[in-house]
Amino acid sequence: MTNPTDSHWVVLKFGGTSVSSVSNWKNVAAVVRARLDEGLRPVVVHSALSGITDRLEQLLAKALAGDWEPVMEQIERRHCDLSRDLGIPISPELEHHFAELRKMASGIHLIGEVSDRLRARVMSTGELMATRIGAAYLASEGLDVQWLDARTLLHAEERAGATARANYLSATCNFEPDPALQQRLAQAGSVLLTQGFIASDSKGETVLLGRGGSDTSGSYIAAKLHARRLEIWTDVPGMFTANPRQVPNARLLKSLDYDEAQEIASSGAKVLHPRCILPVKQYSIALTVHDTQRPDLSGTVVTATGGDGGARVKAVCTKKGITLISMDTLGMWHQVGFLADAFAVFKDHGLSVDLGSTRALSRRWCRRSASCAASK
Ligand code: ASP
Ligand code: MG
Repeated sequence: MTNPTDSHWVVLKFGGTSVSSVSNWKNVAAVVRARLDEGLRPVVVHSALSGITDRLEQLLAKALAGDWEPVMEQIERRHCDLSRDLGIPISPELEHHFAELRKMASGIHLIGEVSDRLRARVMSTGELMATRIGAAYLASEGLDVQWLDARTLLHAEERAGATARANYLSATCNFEPDPALQQRLAQAGSVLLTQGFIASDSKGETVLLGRGGSDTSGSYIAAKLHARRLEIWTDVPGMFTANPRQVPNARLLKSLDYDEAQEIASSGAKVLHPRCILPVKQYSIALTVHDTQRPDLSGTVVTATGGDGGARVKAVCTKKGITLISMDTLGMWHQVGFLADAFAVFKDHGLSVDLGSTRALSRRWCRRSASCAASK
């Protein structure tokens, strides 16, 4: 297949708020039905219930401190309440995930430390639990849905030089179109449902794609299936000229090209994870952004030709949690390796440098100075 517009796969990614209430789940079911009616094969990829990944981080901290039961109970209650509200029973699979979490939390308490490997396993449980509920609900709505373990779909790539921590907690995956996977999934249920955020490494261990990584899961799966479209369903109706929560008269950006969307996503807009653009861009797969609460709004469409090409400011973004580091050194003339040494420190700590500026001369004579803005 050379053109994704011939593909019958469509990947629908729903974020945490989109999968946390009965009214949103009704809209999810309606969107899935609409795609089936269009003759498409929907693959639903979804996040953990909103706030649960934060709770799991808290569970890890509390397990170290020995006081994890109350957080664990909150986590269980959220999932049981949603199941009850959706009118589905607590499945043995969900009970199994609860039991595993409890086992891991008490293990961490006993040992008094948490490895990156175990952290990834604990955090992955959010998506595993939520998708058990999602699949059961869609099945109860009469859809022929099959739950898939994302760790059998997405495989982390070996990154020379990446720290063990980055490999477990912020992995990247291969995303070339995968005909064997397309064939395997073609024989599965008419609606496929899987987790965002998680993948497996070459040892079969659970790895994460970094916080907010479910968009990237959707994009990887869309690329591997050479899907017609990746739809990102969230709690705002698209990408805006500014954060509509801070700037009430911000305008919806109806269409963007991939580079514009990448720029906006990388500069602090929360709508899309910055890593999710490349896979769809590489295979010219259209990416659309929609509001789960208002599914009839048209949203934002990101394609190769989406932008109007005009030289004007498209959006203004802010980014929080940035650390500015300035450094300088004496006697820099022809000094080799100053910047290499400086950047190696960021690499060792798994920090990505967002912006860098360097000059050979600063105000004081004969100093090389560099500034870097870094974030996780
Ligand atoms: N649940 C994960 C997080 O909160 C991944 C995601 O929602 O995209 O970071
Ligand atoms: Mg998100």
